[in-house]
Amino acid sequence: MPKLFIPGPIQVSDKTFRAFCKPMIGHRSNDFKKLYGGIQPRLKELFGTQQPVFLSTSSAWGVMEGSIRNLVHTGKVLNCMNGAFSDKWIDVSRRCGKEAVALQVEWGQPIRGEQLRAALSAGGFDAVTLIHNETSTGVMSDIREIATVMKDFPDVLLIVDTVSSFSVVPIAMDELGIDVLLTGSQKALAMPPGLALFSASKKAMERAAKVNTRGYYFDFVEFAKNQAEDMTPSTPSISHIYALESKLEDIFTEGVANRHARHAENNAIVHEWVRRHGFDFFAPEGFRSKSLTCIANNKGIDVAELAKKAKERGFIIDGGYGKLKGKTFRLSNMGDETPETMRELLTALDASLA
Ligand SMILES: *Cc1c(COP(=O)(O)O)cnc(C)c1O
Repeated sequence: MPKLFIPGPIQVSDKTFRAFCKPMIGHRSNDFKKLYGGIQPRLKELFGTQQPVFLSTSSAWGVMEGSIRNLVHTGKVLNCMNGAFSDKWIDVSRRCGKEAVALQVEWGQPIRGEQLRAALSAGGFDAVTLIHNETSTGVMSDIREIATVMKDFPDVLLIVDTVSSFSVVPIAMDELGIDVLLTGSQKALAMPPGLALFSASKKAMERAAKVNTRGYYFDFVEFAKNQAEDMTPSTPSISHIYALESKLEDIFTEGVANRHARHAENNAIVHEWVRRHGFDFFAPEGFRSKSLTCIANNKGIDVAELAKKAKERGFIIDGGYGKLKGKTFRLSNMGDETPETMRELLTALDASLA
């Protein structure tokens, strides 16, 4: 099988798969409670929070939609939009029956603090949604800058998607005052798709308790009630939780800071390759993702042909998301990749371009 270097799902290690395939246990059993409770300390440390970390058997979108349903009450939601995933979120807000306002910037640009301040100063907002790392464009917004602006709007809750940046760069939920931090299993965490992880601040939980249209499957209050007994509201994907336990073991054996440094090094190797070939970056300097690179096709190469040749050499890359198809291509450096495996990919791309 060719190796995945698309920005999700990404390559899953044999160790993770072995953990995924452990025998089943009952989800109300003591064995399950031990498994679920046992991973909490490490999850909290990774999230940078004192709050419980909830596990949802869904893709990230389940919790993205759930955050809207739980936290947007009588006010509006401001959806920060700068790429495919963040643009979709406003559609989801509206389908949930909420009054949603767009803070739209051009694809390829980050969301800036002052833009957020200007939008929020209209007043009447319950929540803001932000995608920290727009996977479609390779843009990473400055979460600290955003969080600093949010401090001036204490009644507005900040919902942050870190699907493709979680454990790649430090994101301290409590310190930054993030109200919901969410991620998924198949991107930065290098697990099979199907699990979402999230945590909610006290403020977020207080808001949720007041909203009576939370539904059931993604009800934050229901998650908290079950969490108190180291359980989930409904039968979770126990296989994913075994895989997560194994992944946490990997992360803490490597060391969280070392993991961040490895991602930075992987990413720098790709950047060097981009410059050497005379390609441009789609994202501006200072806002380039550390988990993937979105490369602008300024040289007018046949991107589909490059992807095809790379696949013949055993590497699957992405030929551009949605309207950026052919105009960009993306290389992931997430998960378990190392400088060595990144160089293997780039050597294959060199040969494919020649
Ligand atoms: C992939 C992705 C999602 C959607 O994840 P699903 O697991 O498909 O629900 C959301 N946000 C970002 C930033 C992503 O990269």
